[in-house]
Amino acid sequence: DHKPVGNATSSLFRDSPLNAAHSSTNLQQHRKQPCVSVAKEHALPQDLKKLLENKVVETLSGLPHVSVSIMKMALLGKNFPEENIVSQSVSSHSDLITGVYEGGLKIWECTFDLLAYFTKANVNFAGKKVLDLGCGSGLLGIIAFKGGAKEVHFQDYNSLVIDEVTLPNVVVNSPSGEDGMKEPAPKRVTGLKLAQELGQCRFFSGEWSEFCDLVLNSEKHFIKYDLILTSETIYNPDYYSSLHQTFHRLLDTNGRVLLASKAHYFGVGGGVHLFRKFVEERNVFETRALEIIDDGLQRIVVELTFKHPG
Ligand code: SAM
Repeated sequence: DHKPVGNATSSLFRDSPLNAAHSSTNLQQHRKQPCVSVAKEHALPQDLKKLLENKVVETLSGLPHVSVSIMKMALLGKNFPEENIVSQSVSSHSDLITGVYEGGLKIWECTFDLLAYFTKANVNFAGKKVLDLGCGSGLLGIIAFKGGAKEVHFQDYNSLVIDEVTLPNVVVNSPSGEDGMKEPAPKRVTGLKLAQELGQCRFFSGEWSEFCDLVLNSEKHFIKYDLILTSETIYNPDYYSSLHQTFHRLLDTNGRVLLASKAHYFGVGGGVHLFRKFVEERNVFETRALEIIDDGLQRIVVELTFKHPG
């Protein structure tokens, strides 16, 4: 099933604040004021049982994950207009009150394109250090983790997404989490064992350049990522510079980025052609289309590698 969860159309970012440009001045305001969301690392909560409290777990492409549509209703209020949620301050969560939401409360179509590509190309995660950038649900990083990645980092702009969606999803996909789901509720998820299993996963929220500063300063000798996975993150051209710098600063010289995107995002202006042009002009990375999905609006899986690997 290659459809997104929720009720997005394939051609528009109906769920994104950025698409609110169609009906309001939100995009303009947003584009004039680049994101400054400070980055932070999210520790695994002590009480992992609590993490799954009040969550409904569904399965998609064989992966259990918390229901984001139910979550969104609970977090953002029942009657918000889908196209305009950025201006809603119904949530008690601080980063949504400030009004910038980047779309992570939903699983976007291109995530499934990348998942399909992993299988088709037999992408090898074993022993790799992986970043799921703009992770939302975190399914890409979860597959890397299940595939034997040495370390997986998850980043999303919104801390609420990390706390309420990414972290619970990683937990339900861990070995204990999966076993725990079969047990009656009180027995679910044994904290210590799970924390050990997930020791190689780290979680971050915040804007990309802030995130880079945080991880690069978090260890004396930060080891760069072998693989950066990113889906539906190139819709806004105003973020290209920050995204390009993130790849440049965090990717190992022999590493690669696997990026999945729609060809074009109407109303916001970004898309694969524009992003590849941006990247090629900077002359740091080689870009290569790996997969073109031609049903309705074209979607593309693109690889980026350094022009001059180490
Ligand atoms: N990758 C997920 C998927 O395919 O379902 C979520 C895609 S969502 C449309 C875009 C994601 O990119 C958001 O979750 C947000 O966290 C991230 N993002 C977009 N712009 C960002 C920025 N300037 N800084 C940090 N994260 C950003």
